[in-house]
Amino acid sequence: MKFGIIGAGVIGCATAWELLQQGHEVVLIEAREGPGLVTSHANGGQLSYDYVAPLADPGVFRDLPKWLLNPASPLRFRPQLDPRQWCWLAAFLKASNTATAKASTTALLQLSYLSRDTLHQWVKQNPIDFHYKTNGKLIAYRSAHLLEKARKQVEYQATQGSKQRILGREEAVALEPSLAQLGQALSGCVYTPTEEVGDCYLFTKGLFELIAQHPAATVLTNAQVVRLNTREGRVTSAQLAGGDIVEAEHFVLANGLRGYDLLKQQGETIHLYGLKGYSLSIPLPAESELPPGSPPPAPSISVTDYERRTVYAKLGNIVRVAAMVDIGDGNANIRPDRINHLKRDVKDSFPALDVGRAQAWAGERPATPEGRPIIGRSRKLGNLWLNLGHGALGFTLACGSAVLLRSLVTESPTPIDPAPFRAR
Ligand SMILES: Cc1cc2nc3c(=O)[nH]c(=O)nc-3n(C[C@H](O)[C@H](O)[C@H](O)COP(=O)(O)OP(=O)(O)OC[C@H]3O[C@@H](n4cnc5c(N)ncnc54)[C@H](O)[C@@H]3O)c2cc1C
Repeated sequence: MKFGIIGAGVIGCATAWELLQQGHEVVLIEAREGPGLVTSHANGGQLSYDYVAPLADPGVFRDLPKWLLNPASPLRFRPQLDPRQWCWLAAFLKASNTATAKASTTALLQLSYLSRDTLHQWVKQNPIDFHYKTNGKLIAYRSAHLLEKARKQVEYQATQGSKQRILGREEAVALEPSLAQLGQALSGCVYTPTEEVGDCYLFTKGLFELIAQHPAATVLTNAQVVRLNTREGRVTSAQLAGGDIVEAEHFVLANGLRGYDLLKQQGETIHLYGLKGYSLSIPLPAESELPPGSPPPAPSISVTDYERRTVYAKLGNIVRVAAMVDIGDGNANIRPDRINHLKRDVKDSFPALDVGRAQAWAGERPATPEGRPIIGRSRKLGNLWLNLGHGALGFTLACGSAVLLRSLVTESPTPIDPAPFRAR
């Protein structure tokens, strides 16, 4: 079968690669000059298979005033006169209950484990250089009370197959000596040895290069799909900005946040909204630049500073720091107050890192209210498929989402229950 795949971020490239490997023909269509230049570009680098709990949980109601009023909060909400924002927010608040959060976590864990197994298989067959490592993950808690609360989530996730344990301050510092820089501020950590890390852009670019070399693939860059042409409930072709069209038997929307617009033209609305986040890529100092006997400047194991919602990942000779969820900015522009706040946080926690040399980036996570991506058939068009809305977990979930989508399109047995991911 011939597929037109719209968008060459990590989701579109993974989808194209999976379909090619199963013997299909693909045309991968990307608006930018190359792959992975939008949200998949400089994200946190976490392959966070065991940390998939959605943002929508009952704690939202307690935290909302802080998000509105505190400019230094890691989550910020800026209300706009925008019905799309209010509809999304209403659905988000509706999903913020224990039962929905639990159901989403269970579904996301299944998808993330499928993703992990698929990624392992892919990189074994076709090695891609993307600073990929199984380095484990530490969720660092400053508050002893919150660390105690985390114990419950660890116990629940153990029933779903997670292998996590709680470490006290000394045990955590013994495992990851850079945490000594947090001093007494650190209460302890949740440690997951199986978590992985990698550079999402290099992975996406690596997949794109494999796709471009494949005899059954055509890749189009600087090719923006402006409209889907349809007849009798089916997409006949994708209309490009320059006037050309791409014909295929099936089409996949994998164009992140912009999937909303192409669907809306067809009269189909999905809850998809951009949650802006920031990252810093900071070159690691050479050992000779550090005072003798000082702890390592940055963690080797991925660290999440829980209260500040900041993640640290070592990717080659940089450390990638990612943080913040800003609801309502409406673009991926860098706000100086937010990026300066992030730099101050980094300086406070890991003073040996030179934030003056950091490269700043911002992206909009394409988020659904429940935190579950939409993987499945469009509600209106029979041969249009959606692989959208991966929010804060697109890198983690990309390979599994590709496999699930491919099994749905080809009417093969699905490796996990597809129901939680249906278009809604
Ligand atoms: C600060 C931050 C940190 C993050 N950290 C992590 C992390 O640590 N781990 C993790 O798993 N996830 C993380 N994420 C989430 C992850 O980056 C996203 O979920 C993921 O990149 C989404 O991928 P995508 O392919 O759906 O979208 P994109 O990467 O945005 O790709 C969509 C592509 O479609 C193209 N496109 C759009 N419209 C059209 C059109 N009409 N025609 C043709 N092409 C089009 C775009 O140019 C783009 O290349 C983070 C996100 C942010 C913002």
